[in-house]
Amino acid sequence: MPVKPEPIILSQNGGGHESPDGRVDLLGLPLGTLERILIGLGEKPYRGRQIAEWLYARGARDIAAMTNLPHALRSKLAEGYRVGSLREVARRETPDRRTRKVGLAIPEGGIVEAVYMATSRRYTFCLSSQHGCGFACRFCATGRMGRGRNLSAGEIVEQALRLRRELPPGVTEFNVVMMGMGEPLENYDAVMGALGHLTGAPPTGAGLPPKRITISTVGLVPQIMRLADEGHRYRLAISLHAASDELRSKLMPVNRTFPLSALIKAVEHHVQRTGRRVTFEYILIEEINDNVRDAAKLARLVAQIPCKINVIPYNPIGPGRFRRPSEERIRRFSEYLVPRVAAVTVRYSQGVDIGAACGQLAGAVEEPPR
Ligand code: SF4
Repeated sequence: MPVKPEPIILSQNGGGHESPDGRVDLLGLPLGTLERILIGLGEKPYRGRQIAEWLYARGARDIAAMTNLPHALRSKLAEGYRVGSLREVARRETPDRRTRKVGLAIPEGGIVEAVYMATSRRYTFCLSSQHGCGFACRFCATGRMGRGRNLSAGEIVEQALRLRRELPPGVTEFNVVMMGMGEPLENYDAVMGALGHLTGAPPTGAGLPPKRITISTVGLVPQIMRLADEGHRYRLAISLHAASDELRSKLMPVNRTFPLSALIKAVEHHVQRTGRRVTFEYILIEEINDNVRDAAKLARLVAQIPCKINVIPYNPIGPGRFRRPSEERIRRFSEYLVPRVAAVTVRYSQGVDIGAACGQLAGAVEEPPR
């Protein structure tokens, strides 16, 4: 007789996503929920911890691989549960394979994208938190998709676990940036749930140090405060892109709800609470926000905040009036900032040619016919 999943497992943190086949995804479920499921199946709670170890420490792709569970238990479990709910349907890679954009179909259709980036020093995974996005930032391809839905904790952590399998042999350390499709702090509980599994202590978690995780936000003030007050140790990045309310509201409608004064206060609170400096992301767009007057406003705005500024030359996303500035304009802008801000980096995104760079993710990879 099929095992009927208990209602409790569709948990607050968005884990336990139900697939079209009616089975519930084990990825993303809190450990306590896994233990209760196993108790419900007449097992001891430690079986739940064994499953968590298979999911996050060992990266099992399915229940059959969990070989220290009795065969009968694996069969019973597989009737009501599964591991993962995303399906890889597209992939684009740079010729040197250092940047890989993976298109993953969500169960009801639609594609979210995750990006693997390798440099000589580190490996970084850029993960999506939503399918589509309702914030409509003018420079962003995802924003053109409109609002979709929040991904579950399982769907978020699954992106990282899939990319982890692609690390070269012997490499275990990686970074995660929540900068893919969607606004992570709008999907707060699921994102925290997923990151909790990645940073959880082994063997039931993946053991990633919190400082290896960066959450990027357009500036949702209440959630930034919550993040600080809950004591999370993740790094925070603010998509700033303009240093005046007038321009920022044009580029990012969210600024009409949370203007710069409120955002800066929230950032200061976060810095105070966490003791971590914040990163401001500033996409440089020709003749929109890239002259030295803009740089002066930016330097004044962040003067009191321990921070780093990432200047990111605009990555094209199709027809429109935005252009990437010339090298000369990029140089003038950043050279103005360097003596005035503690740390400034000009960051050329990886994967521009394969549509994998900042602002370019749009689920635009075509799903092949099944
Ligand atoms: S930049 Fe982020 S918040 Fe803005 S539209 Fe794109 S995905 Fe949404």
